[in-house]
Amino acid sequence: MGSGPSDMKPAAQLASDLVLVGGGHAHALALRMLAMAPVAGLRITLVSPATHTPYSGMLPGLLAGHYSFAETHIDLAALCAWAGVRFIRTSITGLDPQQKTIAFSDRPPLTYDALSIDIGSQPDTASVPGAAEFSTPVKPVAALWSRWQNTLSGLESGARLAIVGGGAGSVELALAIAHVLSERNLAIDLYCGAPQILQGYNPRARRRVERALIDHGVHLHVDHRVARVKANALYLQGGAKAHYDELLWCTGASASPWLSDSGLPVDDRGFLAITDTLQSTGSAAVFAVGDCATQINHPRPKAGVYAVRQGPVLANNLRAYVLGQPLKSHAPQKRFLSLLSLGDKLAVADRGPFSASGAWVWRWKDRIDREFMRRFSHPPVMPDTTPSSSVPAANPIQAPCGGCGAKLAPAELSAVLAGLRQRYPKATQADNGPTLGSDDAAVVMTPEPMLLQSVDSLRALVSDPYLMGQIAANHALSDLYACGSTPVSAQALVTLPFSTAHVGAGDLEQMLAGSLSIFEKAGCVLLGGHSMQGPECQLGFVVNGLSGERSLPKHGLRPGDSLILTKPLGTGLLFAAQMQGRADGGDIEAAIESMLVSNAVGAQLAVEHGATAVTDVTGFGLAGHLIEMLGEEAGASLNLAAVSLLPGANEAITTGIHSSGFAGNYALVADRCEADVAVTDAAAILFDPQTSGGLLIGVSADRSRALVQALNDQGIEGAVIGVVTESPALVWA
Ligand SMILES: Cc1cc2nc3c(=O)[nH]c(=O)nc-3n(C[C@H](O)[C@H](O)[C@H](O)COP(=O)(O)OP(=O)(O)OC[C@H]3O[C@@H](n4cnc5c(N)ncnc54)[C@H](O)[C@@H]3O)c2cc1C
Repeated sequence: MGSGPSDMKPAAQLASDLVLVGGGHAHALALRMLAMAPVAGLRITLVSPATHTPYSGMLPGLLAGHYSFAETHIDLAALCAWAGVRFIRTSITGLDPQQKTIAFSDRPPLTYDALSIDIGSQPDTASVPGAAEFSTPVKPVAALWSRWQNTLSGLESGARLAIVGGGAGSVELALAIAHVLSERNLAIDLYCGAPQILQGYNPRARRRVERALIDHGVHLHVDHRVARVKANALYLQGGAKAHYDELLWCTGASASPWLSDSGLPVDDRGFLAITDTLQSTGSAAVFAVGDCATQINHPRPKAGVYAVRQGPVLANNLRAYVLGQPLKSHAPQKRFLSLLSLGDKLAVADRGPFSASGAWVWRWKDRIDREFMRRFSHPPVMPDTTPSSSVPAANPIQAPCGGCGAKLAPAELSAVLAGLRQRYPKATQADNGPTLGSDDAAVVMTPEPMLLQSVDSLRALVSDPYLMGQIAANHALSDLYACGSTPVSAQALVTLPFSTAHVGAGDLEQMLAGSLSIFEKAGCVLLGGHSMQGPECQLGFVVNGLSGERSLPKHGLRPGDSLILTKPLGTGLLFAAQMQGRADGGDIEAAIESMLVSNAVGAQLAVEHGATAVTDVTGFGLAGHLIEMLGEEAGASLNLAAVSLLPGANEAITTGIHSSGFAGNYALVADRCEADVAVTDAAAILFDPQTSGGLLIGVSADRSRALVQALNDQGIEGAVIGVVTESPALVWA
């Protein structure tokens, strides 16, 4: 029997959204557990401002030089890719529990059915005047790490480094820094407002830490509360003044103000008040864990161990909540084992009256910490994730329609378009009248000057729909820029994953908002489009542009012309690596940033410098697009050393990763390659398909230096990568 629509298995429909905000310890664990037993119809999204989140237990070891960045950070982007969880890299700035939305500074709000917050805490810099302005808080760790790499580790001889705090984090930090900078002539001061450090620790453990501070030459100033900070000066309560050259702030935890601004109940320090089921006391749909929350029946100090213990309960309760099942209660432990590293590979253990110290304690701590991190660096191979039969209670699933019925309901579509028209007026209303979605067909300009049209469509390459919208729009506009034309209007072709109306509407809004943020900058108006539902997300645009005074031809390269490339290569193989679970989240981030760079300025400079031919490098790879430009007559000689690669691309090639388009791209140009030219690892990049790649510009040799300079002046990574030759062969060295 032939396979027709009646044989087709209905694709799973997305029925509800669970949004995890913050990639803290509890969320990393819960995410991993939820991924291992997926709930049918439930989509999970993680929102985090960074691709990597630190594991606090190993942070002092990172600064002490015992561990690398990768060993101490969970790669959230890679974890999400493994788990099939959407990853949205941004910070949330607000929460509306009534509307069930979270807000961002850079895009429309996101709707949730269930929300969980694990955003940690920051040292309190607000209560001491000048602290926020002059100190480096120990959190967010990303900022501390970059300050450490750029400034702190390079402190001049004789400099004074001050640390304000007195808890476990600050003494570990002081000892780690003292250890790693021991060869340098530096003074390290630790200012503690209390009469002694390590409140709540047993006296033997405290004495051991105090001795380590003395051994490492750290000047401990107890009962020295800092009252005000100015540039290079600390003013202590009681009037004394102390000098510093660098200042680290590591005092008690404070909460993000948006938590209390949400109207949800908070404790007296502004941390979300939660029940024993880890739900907000003001909204059952909002869960919160880790430092940012306080279990009102069991308040505890802020420490990562509590967040870690909450992870499995959170996973269980989130699952139970969306399935309408009973939730479990969590009672945090009263005491916990604290293992403090003492700078060198020694540590002290403290639990109630018990304490011990030595190299073996450090090895013990090291083993525990590495075991924790192994869960994320070596996640298990996923089982066949045919979703369990359980379905979220609130949203029953119906088999999706095909044909024109497979689209978003009119009411949701109108509401989304109305919101976008308000948010992006310039990119949704043309000067000559039409607005986004106002008619069945949009009026476009008369062909004077000439109207150029192009179409491009992408499968979901990133899970964040807003980012997907930005990349797809930028990618589509590149064709117009490569021709020297100015974008004026666009139409969208959107395929949303099969989903219920409210989930689909949210996705459409995010995708179109992302694309409108790009069209707005380009002066291009989105006039309409067509949306439908399908097994996977796709987004494409028909884009129209007006020809400029001088168009940029694709053909016409002359022997002797220099070839200039304006973006690094490697998006194809980096995303192939990501699909195989072998890409670093930071490298994917760099590829995304590169894809978001517009080719508008590069094209303008190509026009101004009299380019002989231009194209944008996309699916056929650099070599394929170059052959298109060269035609049958001319050839090119490429200098591989001059071709810039995205971070991680070289590692991916040398470990044998190729995009699925690689073989086809090589076949496209194979007959133009000299027989004895090998496709070495270094040459493989020439056949890597690019998404939203750079421009390949041909320009006379005498103008190439000026064009490269002009590109670089604009922050564009342009470089001469080869020369056009008379022989029709393509060679590289
Ligand atoms: C030097 C040092 C050493 C420490 N050592 C230990 C230790 O050995 N043991 C221990 O138990 N505790 C330790 N702590 C305390 C520990 O760091 C915290 O208690 C722990 O990190 C809290 O975990 P969490 O899950 O609440 O959040 P975190 O692990 O702090 O993670 C919060 C996450 O949320 C993200 N985020 C922040 N704001 C937003 C936003 N607006 N939107 C989206 N995401 C956001 C952050 O980027 C981060 O990824 C140490 C602290 C320091 C400073």
